[in-house]
Amino acid sequence: MTTKTAGRFFIETFGCQMNVNDSEKVAGLLLADGYERAEAAADADFVFINTCAVREKAAEKLFHALGRLKRLKAERPNLVIGVGGCVAQLQGAGILERAPYVDVLVGTHNVARVPELVRRARNGFPGCVDLDRKADSFTVPDAAIAHSSSVRAYVTAVEGCNHVCSFCVVPRTRGPEQCRPADAIVREVRSLVDRGYPEVMLLGQTVNAYRHAGVGFTDLLERVHDVSGLRRLRFTTSHAEHIDARLVDAFRDLPKLCPYLHLPVQSGSDRILESMRRGYTRATYANTVALLRDRVPDLALSSDVIVGYPGESESDFLATTDLVEQVGFDGLFVFLYSPRPGTSALRLADDIPDEEKLRRFRVLNDAQQERQKRRNADRIGSHEEVLVDTVAEGGRVSGRTRHFRIVHLDGGAELLGQEIDVEIVGAGANALQGRKASAEVSLARAVAL
Ligand code: SAM
Repeated sequence: MTTKTAGRFFIETFGCQMNVNDSEKVAGLLLADGYERAEAAADADFVFINTCAVREKAAEKLFHALGRLKRLKAERPNLVIGVGGCVAQLQGAGILERAPYVDVLVGTHNVARVPELVRRARNGFPGCVDLDRKADSFTVPDAAIAHSSSVRAYVTAVEGCNHVCSFCVVPRTRGPEQCRPADAIVREVRSLVDRGYPEVMLLGQTVNAYRHAGVGFTDLLERVHDVSGLRRLRFTTSHAEHIDARLVDAFRDLPKLCPYLHLPVQSGSDRILESMRRGYTRATYANTVALLRDRVPDLALSSDVIVGYPGESESDFLATTDLVEQVGFDGLFVFLYSPRPGTSALRLADDIPDEEKLRRFRVLNDAQQERQKRRNADRIGSHEEVLVDTVAEGGRVSGRTRHFRIVHLDGGAELLGQEIDVEIVGAGANALQGRKASAEVSLARAVAL
């Protein structure tokens, strides 16, 4: 520990699990450098904002946060402000022009350099910037990652994305796909399990496109599944184009692989899917779902949909509501189309008025909430294996079922990390209420694992 660099840090993270994982890397490296965590930005010597650029609203959050930090820095001029993640990669020096009080700027491939750049900034050096897109994304040692949960650990398997979806900024912010060697992933999972993690979630913008040195995604799942002591395995996000029969069978044949798949569809209209360059049609997506449902009947499926994409007519929208109804997703994230810099859809007029986007959002979202409420109500009286991952106030805990449904129940910190048998006693649209039925999951499943 070096007293020279030690101080307190605070990280604010926007966006997806990959951003959370990047923040966990930054936190771990700072802790290794002698820093301590601060409870709030106001108590910190270094504040790092890890940004998301996927929609304009998400990107604007950076500048709201920076406005608050500017006031803080006026009171405490030694405060070091850092910005990382997708907006940093996308806007680069533009951020420094708009907010010249930002001291450290790192792109999505350069999180490992944060401690060194903070040290330089604290020593008065200007221009502590690293936006090198070609840098190796996988340089942070596994042991340094300060995972934010002690139950579910994120493990990055793929960085970047090779798809060219017309609306999506990710290939620009995270660059082309870079797959991490399978041995390194398995090693990290083994070390996490040795440290007591029951669950890992493999991450990638298009994680199921994974391929490295002849190892495909299902091979990788099998190898991770073989790590003894691991209880639950998940992955996200998947692309429908890379779902093959072997991957489908993995859900059936690998008992630790939880029966939950997030499979963004984006639209139910072929015309829109083609313009989006998603690489599948409504029929091929529906066929993939049919194959999944046929071989893994209890698979929980969730999806993403964009409403108000350029030129989306009422009949395109109805094709989406129809597909969503037909598939009957267990969860659905609906987004209002947001034009993003450098994407090919930017050439198309953003011609759906905001009120109409909002109306379409509400139609889909309301129907989805009703579906979830109905289905969850049917679960009352059933039993679920819940892995407790959160301790709340007032003697309450929550966890996830194998299908990734949230369950709240009475209990304390002693349940954290336990997989327990829970009787479902209440239900809302987004969560279930449960009652602990016995100390552990059934012996049969424990033995099977
Ligand atoms: N890589 C994944 C994929 O392409 O399916 C998901 C990446 S993105 C972080 C998560 C979701 O944000 C996407 O599935 C999409 O529904 C939504 N999204 C991405 N770009 C958007 C945009 N320009 N406007 C609105 N929603 C967007």
